[in-house]
Amino acid sequence: MRKLNILAAALAAVGLSPALAQRDFSKVEVTATPVAPNIYMLQGAGGNIGLSVGADGAFIIDDQFAPLADKIRAAVALVTPDPVRFVLNTHWHFDHTGGNESFGGGGAVIVAHDNVRTRLKQGMKNEEMGWSVDPAPAAALPVVTFGDDVTLHWNGHTIRAHHPAPAHTDGDAIIRFVEANVVHMGDIYFQGGYPFIDLQSGGSLDGVIAAQEGVLATIDDETKIIPGHGPLSNKAELASTITMLKDVRRRVKKLVDRGLSEEATVKADPLKDLNGVWGGGFIKGDAMTRTAYRSLKNE
Ligand SMILES: [Zn+2]
Repeated sequence: MRKLNILAAALAAVGLSPALAQRDFSKVEVTATPVAPNIYMLQGAGGNIGLSVGADGAFIIDDQFAPLADKIRAAVALVTPDPVRFVLNTHWHFDHTGGNESFGGGGAVIVAHDNVRTRLKQGMKNEEMGWSVDPAPAAALPVVTFGDDVTLHWNGHTIRAHHPAPAHTDGDAIIRFVEANVVHMGDIYFQGGYPFIDLQSGGSLDGVIAAQEGVLATIDDETKIIPGHGPLSNKAELASTITMLKDVRRRVKKLVDRGLSEEATVKADPLKDLNGVWGGGFIKGDAMTRTAYRSLKNE
């Protein structure tokens, strides 16, 4: 569990609760929520999983933390007797790719953006943030990688994975089940709260806003959105998240432009009246302010 303890320290360093990283996985239950015919959202700990079942076999989007692989398999087994044949990763973070080694080793084909493979293979050390992620073992690495887009034809669905310009990281994929009108946005979308944006992995606030707007422009009121974290969502909720992020950007940018330091910006508490609605989850107001400040400073 070395990785997870280091993550806890990293989360604490950016003002996040380490509770998620330190949780006892033996207590986690992986549940399946129907999203559309033969498409489910699985939730346990870590990022939401998309599941497609049908004649061609089981296909999952993301696989949470490594210790949960067997629980994910058990949840998949509740809806299909078929083994997992494909895993598509929305990005490289280990609360979304932790099960890769188990599923890849078990014969599933792992598919992801080029930078997911590169970052998993390299691991990451970030002295400033206290991040340290070990290089992933070979079985955990994607064996099919793509640049801008890839389309899978599976279980009667057209499944399009699209890589937007860097947003949450520089290796994000937005995955659409075209006919079923379902989109898995990965961590480009945290439903109901401020987002975590991984600047060290090439992410940016402007990138997240642009990627969210890109999705918003192509969906309708019936679209089901699987967010990276949080409950199943929809167009109206995504739109209100974009409004909030633009507001965060405007407020923090004003202080950056006035030449305030990061500490002075945090102290000014620019998101105070937004925190009640958006700062109750994974990312608190101070952490959002710091991320926005660093992202806007980098421009
Ligand atoms: Zn992430």
